[in-house]
Amino acid sequence: MKKKSETPLQGYLSSIVAFIIATALGIVVFSVVSQRAVDKLAQTKLTLNVTRQSSHFEDILDVNYQFLDGVAAQIGSDGILISEKNRNMLSAIKSTTSIDHVSLIEPDGTAHYETGEVKDVSHRKYFQEGISGHHILSDPVQSSLDHETRVILGVPVSHNGNIIGLLGASYNVTALNHLMFDDLFDGKGFCIIINENGDIISLDGNSTCQKITYDDNFFDFYSQWSICGKDSLQAIRDAFQTQSDGLVKLLSPEDPDSSRYIAYSPLHLNNWMMCYVVPVSVANASYAFVRNYELALNAYFMILVILLIWRVAMIHTRDRRELVHSAQIDGLTAVYNKEHTQPAIDHFLQMSHPDTLHAFLILDIDKFKDVNDTYGHAVGDKVLQRVGEFLKSQFRDGDIIGRIGGDEFVVLMKQVSSKEAALARVQNMVERIRSIKHAEMDGKPITFSVGVAFSPEQGIRFDDLYRNADKALYQTKRGGRNNFSVYEKA
Ligand code: GH3
Ligand code: MG
Repeated sequence: MKKKSETPLQGYLSSIVAFIIATALGIVVFSVVSQRAVDKLAQTKLTLNVTRQSSHFEDILDVNYQFLDGVAAQIGSDGILISEKNRNMLSAIKSTTSIDHVSLIEPDGTAHYETGEVKDVSHRKYFQEGISGHHILSDPVQSSLDHETRVILGVPVSHNGNIIGLLGASYNVTALNHLMFDDLFDGKGFCIIINENGDIISLDGNSTCQKITYDDNFFDFYSQWSICGKDSLQAIRDAFQTQSDGLVKLLSPEDPDSSRYIAYSPLHLNNWMMCYVVPVSVANASYAFVRNYELALNAYFMILVILLIWRVAMIHTRDRRELVHSAQIDGLTAVYNKEHTQPAIDHFLQMSHPDTLHAFLILDIDKFKDVNDTYGHAVGDKVLQRVGEFLKSQFRDGDIIGRIGGDEFVVLMKQVSSKEAALARVQNMVERIRSIKHAEMDGKPITFSVGVAFSPEQGIRFDDLYRNADKALYQTKRGGRNNFSVYEKA
């Protein structure tokens, strides 16, 4: 079967559709790639931040250990652990630092606090580690003094190389949190320190973002959340066990649109891990400009498509108009051709008010055969062309002028004021054509004969007007040509 050929409009439209699809595909690929790049950048930034934060935390603890070591050296200088001088030193430490409580612990576990209280801490794990010569950092313990949860930093007190006791300083967990900087992401994330089992050591940061509390276990809490990508909660557990850092993206069980990044990094102390939890939207916020550019690109693309469609529609309309026009026009004389003239006149008369006066003319060049015979067909053509121009110059723009035969033209003079006025115009035209000298014809003029009929009196259709005007034309030819006659009923 023969394939139906494509119209120009279909050709334009299929090109536009192909262009739109190709560009839309490009935009989608751009969006996906840029979104991935944004995610990657945000994740790298977050991982870097949490790593820095953990080393910052370690530095702060180091400073505290150095301070306590310095104090311990003075305390141990005279070999007597519990003395008036050392008690005064404890009070001074308490009043000049952020340490909550400070104590000197004898080798048997008897702790002397700056408050004067004395407790037995020999059962505490940190005591056993410390007295054997290590710097200690306890898991949060509930103070037997005021039942607040604290962590204890401890350093051994030595004299002449022998450990004579322990200097312990307890920090409130909240105070410990303040050791960390919490200005990341405008404070919209939160920092959390956990041990390898997921028990929470410290929580800090935005309380609206974090629903997790000290009573929760990190792994139990996030077991409800779904993890994006190929990570799993077990993978995080493993990372905690092996003390490696990483990052996961989690989706909230209540609101799948709300996702969080959790970046984690080891603190190298007691197997603690520092985690930073931040909403993905907040972590990506500093790259929101990419999204804005993307929107601008989309809008630009839409405008281009609209302009393109508009332009194609304009070209198509113009082409159609030109096509229709060229189908109506006589190629030689540039007036309407025979095929268009008759329906155009009929259509106009049909639409016209029945009482309006119009003049219908037939013009025929006199002895035109002689022009062809004497000067050649090309000169004849030139003359016909000139006649077309001449007629167009003689009538109003709205009047219908057509060539309906070799040297035969018709004119519908629309809405003439009177028969006399119309005939005066015809008379004038007959005179003017013979005043034009044609160089190709040795400067000779041509003349024409005209037959006139009036509408509605002598017809309200082309055929009737033509027949009657033709009779008038015949009369003119018989009367010697170069003139006009009006149809009169015999
Ligand atoms: P009459 O005064 O009786 O009209 O004499 P005429 O010689 O003009 O006779 P008629 O109108 O019957 O002849 C028209 C001639 O026009 C016939 C033909 O040679 C010539 N003709 C028709 N079409 C064309 C054309 O396209 N180009 C040229 N050059 N001549 C044409
Ligand atoms: Mg003629």
